[in-house]
Amino acid sequence: MYHHISTSPGMITVSPDHFAAQMAYLAQAGYRTVGANQLSAYLAGASLPAKSVVLTFDDGYLDNWVHAHPVLQRHGFTALCFLVTSWPGDGAPRAHAHLGDELPELLNHHEGERAIENGEADRAILRWSEIDAMRHAGTFEFHSHTHSHVRWDKVAPNREEKCVALKRDLLAARAALETRLGGASDHLCWPQGYYDDDYRRVARETGFRHFYTCEMGPNVRGQEQASERSIYRLEVRDRPPSWLRSRLWVHSRPALSRAYLAVKR
Ligand SMILES: [Zn+2]
Repeated sequence: MYHHISTSPGMITVSPDHFAAQMAYLAQAGYRTVGANQLSAYLAGASLPAKSVVLTFDDGYLDNWVHAHPVLQRHGFTALCFLVTSWPGDGAPRAHAHLGDELPELLNHHEGERAIENGEADRAILRWSEIDAMRHAGTFEFHSHTHSHVRWDKVAPNREEKCVALKRDLLAARAALETRLGGASDHLCWPQGYYDDDYRRVARETGFRHFYTCEMGPNVRGQEQASERSIYRLEVRDRPPSWLRSRLWVHSRPALSRAYLAVKR
């Protein structure tokens, strides 16, 4: 799980140099990247090569285009990006790191949050034209992270209104993805990693089957009901590739991963 790949540092930011080195390590170690369809086939019982990895990016930041897209393209890698569909704007694609032009200013996470609140999401978030270019290049797939990113469990006055608001939010995101991208998948990333039984029920009712959490853990075939799956993720840190190599070594061994997480907790 990545958020920002950026020269503006922050808690959930990996530097472009570390990201490039991490991807170079994966390529050189023989890893291949897996898209949403292959992941769901695997979870339903199909096999995958041992060195398979799913790269995910949350929120759809501009820096994903500027710094992640060119690196993924160089290695022939594909990542999943979870879009908050009310945030991307229109306009021509901006420069990215392999175009040689002057790069757009990249806000850090808190500046970006403020820009979004002030109606200036374009300063922090991908444009639809950039999304199209990334899809066309095969570097990114785009899936739902709701339309608003609002935590309805916190702002709705009661349970019923929470469910109604969440449903409206999920349907609006689906409509936006269908209009802009020609289709929407059944993969959903929970805003801020939050979910409860109501969230899961409403998401199932709106057609989602794969739920991306912010919890760590192995993703093993056939463990939950085939009708829905929680997908666990490792938050990748702003560290050299040796760190990623050791995390992959632990978490690709389910028993070891569970023991490690139990001790850590
Ligand atoms: Zn998010």
